[in-house]
Amino acid sequence: MTEEREAIADGVPAHVLFEEGLGLSYDDYILLPGYIDFHASQVSLETRVTRRITIKRPIVSAPMDTVTETEMAIGLALQGGLGIIHYNNTPEEQAAMVRRVKRFENGFISDPVVLGPRHTIADVDHIKQTHGFSGIPITEDGTLNSRLVGIVTNRDIDFEKDRSRPLAEVMTTDLVTAPVGVTLSEANKILKESKKGKLPVVDSERRLVALVSRNDLIKNKEFPEASKDPRKQLLVGAAVSTREEDRRRIDLVIEAGADVLVIDAAQGYSRFELDTLRYIKETAPHVDVVAGNVVSVTQAEAMIRAGADALRIGMGPGSICITQNMMAVGRAQASAVSRCAHYARQFDVPVIADGGIRGIGHILKALAIGASTVMLGSLLAGTAESPGEYLYENGIRVKQYRGMASLEAMNAGGGKRYLNENDGVQVPQGVAGTVVDKGSLQDYVPYLHKGISQGFQDMGVRSIPELHEALYSGRLRFERRTPAAQEEGSVHSLVSYREPRWGIR
Ligand code: IMP
Repeated sequence: MTEEREAIADGVPAHVLFEEGLGLSYDDYILLPGYIDFHASQVSLETRVTRRITIKRPIVSAPMDTVTETEMAIGLALQGGLGIIHYNNTPEEQAAMVRRVKRFENGFISDPVVLGPRHTIADVDHIKQTHGFSGIPITEDGTLNSRLVGIVTNRDIDFEKDRSRPLAEVMTTDLVTAPVGVTLSEANKILKESKKGKLPVVDSERRLVALVSRNDLIKNKEFPEASKDPRKQLLVGAAVSTREEDRRRIDLVIEAGADVLVIDAAQGYSRFELDTLRYIKETAPHVDVVAGNVVSVTQAEAMIRAGADALRIGMGPGSICITQNMMAVGRAQASAVSRCAHYARQFDVPVIADGGIRGIGHILKALAIGASTVMLGSLLAGTAESPGEYLYENGIRVKQYRGMASLEAMNAGGGKRYLNENDGVQVPQGVAGTVVDKGSLQDYVPYLHKGISQGFQDMGVRSIPELHEALYSGRLRFERRTPAAQEEGSVHSLVSYREPRWGIR
C-alpha cells in the first residue's frame, strides 16, 4: 500500500492493534471484510499443528479428563483434527489409549467380543442382552489373536432348547474370512457376495485379528479429511507432565505410537519443562513436541531454543480456569497469541491458541492473529465422544466438564500441570461444571468447518497460509471494539429469541 493510501485505509494492521501494555481478548477486536471472488467451499483449512505435522482442520482437543480419551481422539482425527490424550491416569492406561487410536481402522472392529468352543449358548444369550449383537467369532481359547475355529450366529442357536450346550456343537465352521491387510471396500465386497453377517479378518496362522460387520456397512463412511500418518494410521497426541517420574510415561506413549507429545504445564517457563523437552528431543527425535503453556515472547524464545516444534499459548483464558484471579499471573489471550505467534513465525514454529474459544468467531479471530490451530476444551466437552455420561440439569442435557486443576480432578490424580506438591492443602486453579450436549463430532466438526470457511470468505482469504500472509503484510485490517460496539454486535432489542443449537459466536 502506498503511504497516501495507507493514511486513509480503514482499520489497522495487527501490530498496531496489539500495542504493548494493553491486554486484548478476542471480543476486543473485529476484522474488516476483504474482497470475495471465490466460494466458501474453495477455502482450505489445511494447517500445521507442529513443524512436521499437517492436518486438514485446525482443531485440536484439550488434554483433559473430561475431553480427550480414545473415542475423542479417533472421532476428531477422522474429522481432520487432532486429539491429545490426557494424563490423569496411569502411564499404562494412557499408552493403551494411544495404541487403540493407532490401531483403529475405519469399519474394522479391532476388539470384537470373542468366545471359545467350551462357552455355552447361554453365554451368547448374555452377550446379546448386554451388547445387543450376535454373530460371535469362536477362537481356540476364547480370546482375540487366538486361532479362529468357528462363528456362532442367530441361525445356529435360535431353535435350540438346551441353552447349556457348548458352542463347539452348534457353531458354523464353514467360514468365509479375509486376510489381514484387506481394505474396507474389499471386505465390504466379500460380505455382500457371501451374504454373511460378519467377516472375520485373520492372519497367516488363522488367528483372529478383527471383524467386519454387515450392519456397519452403511455406517462405513469414508473420511477424506482424516488426519493420518504415512502408514495410514490415525494421528494422535499425548500429554505428559514435566515431572521426573513421568519420563516412563513419555517412553510408554512414544512406544505406543503417539505422533505428538504435548508437555502440559500451566506455566511452561520452567527448568522442569526445558529438561523434559530436551529429554524427548534426545530420546525420540522423530516425535514432534508441543511446548507450553506460554504467553510471552521471553517464554516462547526459551521453548524454541530448546527445540519446541510448536507452542501452546494461553494462561488463564480457559472457561473452567481461575488461574488469573488466584495467581495474579497470565495474559489476555489475544495479546498472548498475537505476540507469541509473531515471534515464532521467524523460526517457522506453529502456535496453538489454547483456551477461551467460545465458538466459530473466536476460532477465526485466533487464526487471524497468527495461530495455526486452536485447542478446544469446553466446546468439545459436551460431544458424544467426550468421556462421561450425559445427565440432566434443569431439563437440559449436559455432560460434566472440569478444569485439570479443579479440586475434583486433582483428587482424581490430576494437577500435575500446576507443579502442585502433594502436601495436603490444595489450591485449585480451576472449577468443575457442566456443558451442554453438542451431539456427535461427526456433525459438530463439519459445522465448525463450514462456519470457519465462510468467515475466511468474508475476510477474502482462501487458506490459513494466505491469512497469515495477509496478517503480516498488513493487508488484513483490524479494529478495536468499544463496549458499545460489542453490544451492538450481539443480539439486542428483542423481547425473546432462540439461540441456534450450537450457539451464536
Ligand atoms: P476452554 O476451551 O476455554 O474450556 O479451555 C481449555 C484449556 O483450559 C485447556 O486446554 C487448558 O489449557 C486450560 N485448563 C485446563 N484445566 C484447567 C484448570 O483447571 N485451570 C486453568 N486452566 C485449565
